[in-house]
Amino acid sequence: MSHTDKAPHQPQRMCIGCRHSDDQVALIRLHVRAVSGTDTPSVHVDTGARAGGRGAWLHPNQDCFQRALKSRGFARAFRGQVDTTALAAEFTIACSATENVRDQHESGSKI
Ligand SMILES: [Zn+2]
Repeated sequence: MSHTDKAPHQPQRMCIGCRHSDDQVALIRLHVRAVSGTDTPSVHVDTGARAGGRGAWLHPNQDCFQRALKSRGFARAFRGQVDTTALAAEFTIACSATENVRDQHESGSKI
């Protein structure tokens, strides 16, 4: 029973894949960029987590990514049709970059 386990005012964000809230630092921020010649903007990983505009959040794992695709979480988060073609590769890279955060997070649970 430690009372220093967790920072008390960690901002929370909802993952658009599993739709669970988590610490902002444990999630990857996504944002959309306009694409010239089409009305459909494309989704990208916001590596600095500070790009302007509408954002969405995903846990750094492929499960949540696939769930967001299947449940149309992207369209819901960005209020319209978006192109996620470029995101798949970017997201995979972002996942491996955040493995440390994920390890911390999953260290309490067993599958
Ligand atoms: Zn998730």
